[in-house]
Amino acid sequence: MIVEKKRNGKSIIYKPEKATFSGHYLKLIPNAPNYSPDENIQKELINILIIKFPVNEIESHLSNRIEFIDPGVNLESIICNICSKSIDMETWADIMSNWYKIDNSSLDIQTPCCNKKSNLNDLIYDSPSGFSKYRLSVNNAEYITENIEKVRIEIQKKTGIGFKIIWSRY
Ligand SMILES: [Zn+2]
Repeated sequence: MIVEKKRNGKSIIYKPEKATFSGHYLKLIPNAPNYSPDENIQKELINILIIKFPVNEIESHLSNRIEFIDPGVNLESIICNICSKSIDMETWADIMSNWYKIDNSSLDIQTPCCNKKSNLNDLIYDSPSGFSKYRLSVNNAEYITENIEKVRIEIQKKTGIGFKIIWSRY
């Protein structure tokens, strides 16, 4: 069953009858933060995921603005891509709340450690995180690297752009 939902943008959700749920999500996001696929493409991307994950709930979400696609509790450190210093979580929270307030699509920042121009998407997140308007997510996806790499390649072929994998745990 496919349902549609409006919440800070629009979601198309595949809900199989026998879905099992957990706090683990596989997320796939485009490397181009503003990428906004139309509904037909989104449904084709869901279909690619259904083949590998037929009993998992799958969501295709297009937000109204670029969002931080987080790995939940898997986010343990953020490192400056220029000077390699660690950015502490409190400083990071301030950067993020300013960024959300400004509500524009620029990801440019002045780094707090070395005071250089950088980009939120270029900082080094452990585990990986990212910024995008669009995201695909699979709840309770089994961690089979090979399957996931195949899916990523198919999605890239369909859309013509690179996608990044984010594992989230809540
Ligand atoms: Zn720095």
